[in-house]
Amino acid sequence: MATDNELFDITIVGGGPTGLFAAFYAGMRGMKTKIIESLPQLGGQLAALYPEKYIYDVAGFPKVTAKELVDGLIEQAFQFPITTCLGESVQTIERDDDGTLLLRTQSAVHRSQAVVITVGMGAFRPKTLDAPGVAEFEGRGVYYFVPQLNVFEGKRVLIVGGGDSAVDWALALAHRARVTLIHRRDRFRAHEHSIEQLKTSPVDIKTPYELKEVRGGETVEEAVVFHNKTMEEERLPVDAVILSLGFNPDLSLVEKWDLQLEDGGIAVNSRMETSRPGIYAAGDIVSYPGKVKLIVCGFGEAATAVNNAATYINPKAKLFPGHSTNRK
Ligand SMILES: Cc1cc2nc3c(=O)[nH]c(=O)nc-3n(C[C@H](O)[C@H](O)[C@H](O)COP(=O)(O)OP(=O)(O)OC[C@H]3O[C@@H](n4cnc5c(N)ncnc54)[C@H](O)[C@@H]3O)c2cc1C
Repeated sequence: MATDNELFDITIVGGGPTGLFAAFYAGMRGMKTKIIESLPQLGGQLAALYPEKYIYDVAGFPKVTAKELVDGLIEQAFQFPITTCLGESVQTIERDDDGTLLLRTQSAVHRSQAVVITVGMGAFRPKTLDAPGVAEFEGRGVYYFVPQLNVFEGKRVLIVGGGDSAVDWALALAHRARVTLIHRRDRFRAHEHSIEQLKTSPVDIKTPYELKEVRGGETVEEAVVFHNKTMEEERLPVDAVILSLGFNPDLSLVEKWDLQLEDGGIAVNSRMETSRPGIYAAGDIVSYPGKVKLIVCGFGEAATAVNNAATYINPKAKLFPGHSTNRK
């Protein structure tokens, strides 16, 4: 396994919105910065799960798509020379004899003086269904995310699920595709306003229905669904099946990092310091009394984590970075 001998001041683990903003702040403080991200792209949940959805609660943006927000965060961070390692998952974080932190991924060992962990909900593991054909057709018509709406243009799409994501995707695709939405209960769990929109949309809604089987050749051609009270079956000719059943947080890697965990997250103090010196955390992964899992909260925590890490690396450094308006 290659050891990346170059020593970085700070390494951000996870390139979601919190990690990108942490990288920006570290860059602005003149720190030699690296981001390690396990997916092939930056942006975290925003890029992977809902790039085309509007976000309404980021300060200063009355309305912004997740993709636009990620593009802005990338532009803001990469005004500085930040090293990025995509497609690498941090497996362990150890300490060398000289105090350097060693971050081991599948392919390299990275060296850093301080670390900020911004791994969100860990690896994304979408909930799936144990129905025949589902696993077989993954990537050939069975989806768990909607990467781009135009993938489904003019297609016959079956969406399975009753929460916000399922209903939102049904609405987003309603005028681009022939959409059927099935949910195993009579009532949807989605936002009331979305449910009202759904009722007047062209989406074919079937409740209480479940998916029994996905069939096809090269790609998906048919889904068998059934009414879970009468058990009556129906064959739907479809080109795509989107399983929108939520995600299981997979924190199995984080659990190996020897950090104090609390309520399913990494315990931090008001400096965003974890139980291990030099290791800070921010964003969805952290746990403290009153923690709110929102993008804007992650931004504030990222700034706190990076500025405190700066004083860890150099105890003479000021905690307050100065105002960005004073930059030349
Ligand atoms: C459908 C949906 C809609 C939402 N709408 C809103 C909204 O309107 N407003 C709002 O404020 N929030 C919203 N959220 C929540 C918001 O997306 C999260 O709060 C935010 O993404 C958290 O950012 P993060 O950077 O902490 O984590 P994430 O976005 O989860 O990013 C973490 C990154 O770390 C990477 N990673 C994980 N493990 C490792 C590892 N071991 N090594 C390297 N990299 C790793 C992951 O691949 C990921 O890219 C929504 C979430 C969803 C799912």
